[in-house]
Amino acid sequence: MGRLDDKVVVLTAGAQGIGRACAEIFAREGARVIATDVNVEKLKELDSIKGIETRVLDVTNNDDIVKLAKSLDHVDILFNCAGYVHNGTILETDEASWDRSFNINVKSMFRMCKAFLPKMMAQDSSVSIINMSSVASSIKGVPNRSVYSTTKAAVIGLTKSVAADYVDQNVRCNCVCPGTVDTPSLHERINALEDPQKSMKDFLARQKMGRFASADEIANMVLYLASDESKYVTGQCFIIDGGWSL
Ligand code: NAD
Repeated sequence: MGRLDDKVVVLTAGAQGIGRACAEIFAREGARVIATDVNVEKLKELDSIKGIETRVLDVTNNDDIVKLAKSLDHVDILFNCAGYVHNGTILETDEASWDRSFNINVKSMFRMCKAFLPKMMAQDSSVSIINMSSVASSIKGVPNRSVYSTTKAAVIGLTKSVAADYVDQNVRCNCVCPGTVDTPSLHERINALEDPQKSMKDFLARQKMGRFASADEIANMVLYLASDESKYVTGQCFIIDGGWSL
């Protein structure tokens, strides 16, 4: 028996990194997984996995989000994973980068929750929304992550407000706050820096356990929040950072 038997999951940013690890673990645990992403080519790699269906979806496109919600009969679990990292202090952040970050990291979740909540609330069973935040948020001040941390703090606020508004209607809403996770975009970001080798050493030096988290380690926490094992848990932030925020 799987931990998500008979559950239908919709998730964003499923093509790589944490979203992909979650799509795979959810499917292994018996769910029907609708994995979405903007990256058409990477998304195709999931098509052959039993239990996963893929849909191209840009989380900044409200019409497409509404269309996807209308196309599904019922949804038990929504995992809002899509996010984008802008590097820089507040003085190095222009308005376009500020707006882009809020659009992809926060407004996306507003759109997804608005489109999917009515369908989820109509069910008798307990349903779960999981939002991707970060310890770089209201939890920890991290240098050079001004707008990123601001958006991830907003995700915590959104999570708590959804949890408070729908706690008596079988809807749970929690967020996950990872530290540094070994994903393709982490390597892309490090390789884009002036001295990638030194930057990799610096990134590792700030890890109290001497390593990054794996995407699978984050996926296991998301799985717990998605499953009925956490059915008395709502409105909480789950830090998984190898002690970085200690
Ligand atoms: P990633 O950056 O490797 O991949 C992100 C995925 O999001 C890609 O497949 C990309 O195509 C997709 N995406 C980007 N813009 C999109 C859009 N507009 N619509 C739909 N999909 C879009 O992923 P990751 O590093 O696993 O990060 C996933 C989430 O976890 C993000 O919200 C990120 O902020 C958060 N997070 C990551 C880390 C880390 O160290 N990697 C730490 C804390 C939080």
